[in-house]
Amino acid sequence: MSTALRGRIVGFRDDPFLAAPRDCLQHEPDGLVHIENGLIVSVGPYAEIVPTLPAGTQIVCYPNAIICAGFVDAHVHYPQLQMVGAPGEQLLGWLDRYVFPTEAQFADPDHARRVARRFLRELLRAGTTTAAVYCTVHPQSVDAFFAESVRLGTRMIAGKVLMDRNVPDAIRDTAKTGHAESLALIRRWHGKARQSYAVTPRFAPSCSPEQLAAAADLLGQTDGLFLQTHLAENQAEIAWVARLFPEARSYLDVYDRAGLVGARSIFGHGIHLDEQDFCICHRAGAALAHCPTSNLFLGSGNFRLFEARDPRRPVHVALGSDVGAGTSLSSLVTLNEAYKVAQAVGAGTLDAIRGFWLATLGGARALSLDDRIGRVAPGYEADLVVLDPDSSPLLSFRTGFCDSVEELLFALMTLGDDRAIRATYVNGRCVHDRDAEAP
Ligand SMILES: [Zn+2]
Repeated sequence: MSTALRGRIVGFRDDPFLAAPRDCLQHEPDGLVHIENGLIVSVGPYAEIVPTLPAGTQIVCYPNAIICAGFVDAHVHYPQLQMVGAPGEQLLGWLDRYVFPTEAQFADPDHARRVARRFLRELLRAGTTTAAVYCTVHPQSVDAFFAESVRLGTRMIAGKVLMDRNVPDAIRDTAKTGHAESLALIRRWHGKARQSYAVTPRFAPSCSPEQLAAAADLLGQTDGLFLQTHLAENQAEIAWVARLFPEARSYLDVYDRAGLVGARSIFGHGIHLDEQDFCICHRAGAALAHCPTSNLFLGSGNFRLFEARDPRRPVHVALGSDVGAGTSLSSLVTLNEAYKVAQAVGAGTLDAIRGFWLATLGGARALSLDDRIGRVAPGYEADLVVLDPDSSPLLSFRTGFCDSVEELLFALMTLGDDRAIRATYVNGRCVHDRDAEAP
């Protein structure tokens, strides 16, 4: 089937933290994206591409809207959707009081299926087409998530949380059962359709050294697996890790000694890292997931984005919503808060080009998926989002005064939210059409 989308196309050719941002931006004011069998066939000015379309191609027009690559969310917990916005604690107390009782409910596969369906629908409504997702300790929570993702055709990364100590009995596994259950899930889901498995030790305090070793063993057994965990989010957490692993030089060193720092490792937060930690991440090609709404909500601290991305030893960074500590699945809202965090740190300003790069191609690159997603370019998977600058009265009024595409993008990342997602395409198929949904 042949489809073409007409609108203003925005994409990136390079990393705007390493080259002049303006040189990295690709912009086609009246563009056309031609899609066949889930892949982008050609992209360019409408007038040039339209004569090349096969007879019968359906052209969908989005006047005044921006078409860009679908957003990437590199750190989110689907089981926590039902408790997003639970107030009044810092990380460790918040986990005990809200998260662990909520995650215990996912022993029930019907509950897991219901929340997985809702979560993926909400992600697509937010324009997110790929995410690295934590399930719970229960294998059935992973089955529920991947089954729904296969049904939708989304490219997702997910895994069963491993935690064998310092958590309630109902959600505790052992190094041995966690290994066996993860292996069975890897065999069932990894590489099926567009799904990838992430070995998921929750964080160092909930994993014994034996469990971290079992995680490394899993990574060594199968090609293309991801590793996701939390890192240096909160000071009390860091002090606890130092007591549990006195031999480690730093929190990151706990994972490094266990063999868990590699090119497909995704570390949530990484707020309180030192120069040596950044150098280790850079050399390994590991990624940090910057989760500003979560960090502000829990008072965890300010991620040093421009220090992490220092051109002398750039570390991969992607954006993460970290729902339920994060307060929105929208990458636009995440960018709005990331801008403010960067302002508070004072080491650089997050302009719209760097922001949208982080949300798309930068995120894909951090996840080693930039050969497939993150660009609006021939051969890439047609995961696309259509952004509507007229989605709210204020955004429409404000963008009426924008003189450049950079200004327009900046208004979207400051004033936009899920309402600005006019449509979301996955594998070339429209999976969210805002205006077709019942009010
Ligand atoms: Zn998290």
